[in-house]
Amino acid sequence: MQNAKLAAKADPSHKTVIKLSEQIAVGGQDLLIVGGPCSVESQAQMEEVASRLVAAPVQALRGGVYKPRTSPYAFQGLGQEGLEILATVRDRSGLPVITEVMAISQIEAIAPHADVLQIGSRNMQNFDLLKAVGEVDKPIVLKRGLAATIEEFVMAAEYILSHGNPNVILCERGIRSFDPYTRNVLDLGAVVALKQITHLPIIVDPSHAAGKRELVADLARAAVACGADGIIVECHPNPEKSVSDARQALSLEDMVSLVQSLRPVAAAVGRSIPMKAGANVRLSLV
Ligand code: PEP
Ligand code: MN
Repeated sequence: MQNAKLAAKADPSHKTVIKLSEQIAVGGQDLLIVGGPCSVESQAQMEEVASRLVAAPVQALRGGVYKPRTSPYAFQGLGQEGLEILATVRDRSGLPVITEVMAISQIEAIAPHADVLQIGSRNMQNFDLLKAVGEVDKPIVLKRGLAATIEEFVMAAEYILSHGNPNVILCERGIRSFDPYTRNVLDLGAVVALKQITHLPIIVDPSHAAGKRELVADLARAAVACGADGIIVECHPNPEKSVSDARQALSLEDMVSLVQSLRPVAAAVGRSIPMKAGANVRLSLV
């Protein structure tokens, strides 16, 4: 392992707790549960997601407005219009929002509307982008590259840390392998190793790992059991109709059940899930 001066754990008790908002943090005893669609599609969609998930409870919402798609002909995200939807839902619900930044030029527009910026897998080693988000005063979710080693992942975090941003949340989201049955292979061994190597919080995205909704809940429970600090899960009011990643989207009911089913698993490993999303989170959006 190369010298990860800032990301390395100094001693077994060394851990970083990162605040997403006044009430919500990741890396402490409480797990961070993030839910929401792959892509922001409309105001109505995001309001339905927020109002159902507040009660789950989730502690933050996700939704992409700039989407890295394999095909240039596929939906690319709502862009500015999507940012405005995120901003409204964030204000009305009180829940922090996480959205992906694909390019340095998008940072200025996204940062005021998001509580956490996501660096997607395809950009994990976009070093100029990592340096740029290192200068932003917001937490960063850094997703593991499609075929990145653990060392490359830690060194990518080191780029952000060394450019001045101490708030990096690592996200294991599955790595490429030979078997197309699952979209990727969820590397829970990496989660355990990363907890030993770094002091940074680590969350798990079982949705992009599995690529199939029927695998997501069990993988999420396994992630919590092995020490992950949280999960980020794709869900949608009408999963089959999702404009992107429909096959892996949970229904909102299934997302609520998943959160409930995590409680005993969390308790077994000394973690907890808050009963409420947060003191200033509103149960009703109107
Ligand atoms: C996403 O979170 O919607 C996404 C594109 O994830 P990843 O970068 O892990 O593929
Ligand atoms: Mn997705």
